[in-house]
Amino acid sequence: MNDTSRLPYRLRLPGPTAVPARVRQAIAGLVIDHHGPEFHALVGEIQRRIRPIFGTRGKVLTFAGSGTAAMEAALANIAPPGTPVLVVAHGQFGVRFGQIAQALGCKVDMLEVEWGTAPDPAAIRQQLEHRDYAALCVTHNETSTGVTADLPAIGALTKDRPTLLLVDSVSGIAGLPVEQDRWHLDLVIGASQKALMCPPGIGLVGISAKAWAVIERGHGGRFFWDFRKAGAALDKLEGAFTPPVSLMAGLAEALRMIEEEGFANVLARHRRLAAAMRAGLASLGLPPFPREAPSDTVAVVRVPDGLDGNVMIQNLYERYRTVVAGSRTHLSGKLIRIGTMGYVSESDILTDLHFIELTLRNLGIAPREGAGVAAAAALFARPLEERRAAA
Ligand code: PLP
Repeated sequence: MNDTSRLPYRLRLPGPTAVPARVRQAIAGLVIDHHGPEFHALVGEIQRRIRPIFGTRGKVLTFAGSGTAAMEAALANIAPPGTPVLVVAHGQFGVRFGQIAQALGCKVDMLEVEWGTAPDPAAIRQQLEHRDYAALCVTHNETSTGVTADLPAIGALTKDRPTLLLVDSVSGIAGLPVEQDRWHLDLVIGASQKALMCPPGIGLVGISAKAWAVIERGHGGRFFWDFRKAGAALDKLEGAFTPPVSLMAGLAEALRMIEEEGFANVLARHRRLAAAMRAGLASLGLPPFPREAPSDTVAVVRVPDGLDGNVMIQNLYERYRTVVAGSRTHLSGKLIRIGTMGYVSESDILTDLHFIELTLRNLGIAPREGAGVAAAAALFARPLEERRAAA
């Protein structure tokens, strides 16, 4: 074992992601009155800055809870037990959406999509014609496979139907384009610990006018999670119950950082870093798992034959204090997953690739020396105009 005491702890998961010092400092500030003027200003600021990220002029509700909590809350507010719901699953988190719908007593039809591929809008349309669904649940960015769904095409399918479109964008929001209003997405779900650069603990839900009409009709089975209460409280720039004020101070700071960089630049950075990460990993002999539509917020790659991905992950942590993810599915040991979202820069990607190369060598695989770093650096060196044209 080498001496890792002087190496920084590098959180390179696809969530939770590294939290910038500015955000941590904001969280460490005074705890404020959740009915006072400072909190009202904070909530107003969060709404002003988060709505463009969701691509909506409507409310974005925030709750103390993780992404899964927000997924469950979104369904519970529009789909009482016995409601027919169609869930598209192109990975682990789509499967989870189905489990949530089952647990809520919905009548669930699953549209299973081969992992590593994206949902086919034509297949979804066919299924929608088959039955009157109250809700269609789709994972925007499937963090388990690294594949991004075509939201504009899927939104067009439910636009003129009563069916509400629920989008799990937990690992997409703030790192990938989302145009809730233009793409006709009814409930868009996010979480603080991914591209929003905050610690875990805030679930977010953007809500369309079409969804509000259903929510307002209301039904039993929820109290804390009642979006009507949360919406009414938000009109007063408050939460329905004691909100996570410190985390919200952190979220406001993260949103200031996004605004300072420019949201379009943030998205371009995600595209650039993800492309460089993919190129670098491929050069090290780690091919992409996605067969199409690779994500710009997470790189998912296959580990070389004969190598156990979990051993690689352990080696990266023990030798280089670099924390990446494996797979928590039947693909365990075969994949590694690295975040390219949130507070990441070119130097993070180059360091990742360097340490991954060293890890491969430690484990008896010898890629061409410096191949990963060179492939990524070559992309970074391309003139900005060329990069923009390629993006
Ligand atoms: N959906 C996606 C796409 C995710 O990546 C995750 C977390 O990794 C979740 C849902 C669940 O979110 P949480 O772990 O915050 O409950």
